[in-house]
Amino acid sequence: MDIKELVLKSSKEQREALLNKEVSAVELVNAVYENISKNDETIGAYLSLTKDNALETAKTVDEKIAKGEELPPLAGIPLALKDNMNLIGSKTTAASKILENFVSPYDATVVTKLKENLIPIIGKTNLDEFAMGSSNENSAYKPVRNPWDTSKVPGGSSGGSAAAVASGEATLALGSDTGGSIRLPASYCGLVGLKPSYGRVSRYGLIAFASSLDQIGPFARTVEDAALLLNAISGHDYHDSTSSDLAVEDYTKGLNNSLKGVKIGYIEELCSEGLAPDVKSSIENSMKKYEELGAELVPISLPLIKYSIAVYYIVATAEASSNLARFDGVRYGYRTKDAQTLIDMYMKTRAEGFGPEVKRRIMLGTYALSSGYYDAYYKKAQQIRRLIKKDFDNAFKQVDVLLSPTCPFTAFKLGEKVSDPLAMYLTDIGTITANLAGLPAMSIPVGLDSTGMPIGLQLLANNFNETKLLNVAHMLEGVVKFDYMRGSLIRA
Ligand code: GLN
Repeated sequence: MDIKELVLKSSKEQREALLNKEVSAVELVNAVYENISKNDETIGAYLSLTKDNALETAKTVDEKIAKGEELPPLAGIPLALKDNMNLIGSKTTAASKILENFVSPYDATVVTKLKENLIPIIGKTNLDEFAMGSSNENSAYKPVRNPWDTSKVPGGSSGGSAAAVASGEATLALGSDTGGSIRLPASYCGLVGLKPSYGRVSRYGLIAFASSLDQIGPFARTVEDAALLLNAISGHDYHDSTSSDLAVEDYTKGLNNSLKGVKIGYIEELCSEGLAPDVKSSIENSMKKYEELGAELVPISLPLIKYSIAVYYIVATAEASSNLARFDGVRYGYRTKDAQTLIDMYMKTRAEGFGPEVKRRIMLGTYALSSGYYDAYYKKAQQIRRLIKKDFDNAFKQVDVLLSPTCPFTAFKLGEKVSDPLAMYLTDIGTITANLAGLPAMSIPVGLDSTGMPIGLQLLANNFNETKLLNVAHMLEGVVKFDYMRGSLIRA
């Protein structure tokens, strides 16, 4: 197979070509860099490249292949890393000016695991500053453009990771998801995106946004690839006490289980009103396909969903205001040039270093935590969060998985929502609840709208039921047969 085609395929096909010695891992990595030099000026997926690192790993893979040694399943498969995860010696900016020259002094646990699995890390991908946003327009450096239509956003905040995989600038990627930041870009870019259960993947070395909601997870072109990458990054970590010590299953094991008798609940509040017509028909179509596959569709009402955005913007901003306090001009990155006193230095550093959305969140969060407002906002939000979790617990007594659109609409134009934060916040109406409840959730592509943009279906499962979730996703993938690289610039 031509290497230009091969870089657009799944890891499985790439692995086969590597093991059959049709291409070397170094050639595969170089082909990805060729796509980057051809297209990334337009797409903007990467903030920095880690070429030496990637080529060194690829060389090791080639040596092992030459010697006929056993290789981990994703060895040699090019991966893009969101720039809010530490890779030793690389710049890690979180797309913020305040970390412009910050170089990671250590590896995030996921990065250690990628290295153990001999996965070449191609570079660090663009994002909304500190992962705050839904369109990737909040990056302090440059926006990311959707490879399916470069006048449109790729979704956020892991927009760079999604765009990289969708444009052949990586085969796999890692993103982080606090309220939808893996699933939304996956849905806008026609990819599989998975937010694992809270605690499944270590957060050590991920720049914290909202610690009780953040999870790292995979982007891939196929469900199987996502399962393989989840295998590689999951597990308990001494450095993250919120990581679970539950045994890591082989998430590819259940992929082909029959759906006969499986109960799928469609979330009524998310499947009825306010959907773009093409999204609605695509979701209904998927539901029909599930019935044909033998699953039983059950309506499930989660009335508290209507509070989820309000709850999220209190909990997430409260945690962010605390997490971002460390960026003070003393310990990390940027420091203002002209300050007279210490307080003056703190204030100017933060005023100059943070972008408008980050400042908005810090102010909101500080307000929600301040004495006099704590009970009315933060405490109340935590109480509703608990009730939302209870609603899910009840739902999962009735059904195996839940289904909804990932987003009520498809990717929008750059600039369309930037001046209206509330409209932007509404993009996450479908995704946020999974984070509030800690549940695993994923987006898979199920169709295109009338303008040719991908539509994502969201599936959610009970805590640590990733195997079941991936199975239900995989079975639909098999009948939808989505051409995930159709929108790729390379094919255009
Ligand atoms: N769009 C949401 C926000 O801006 C979610 C971001 C995320 O998941 N990191 O907070």
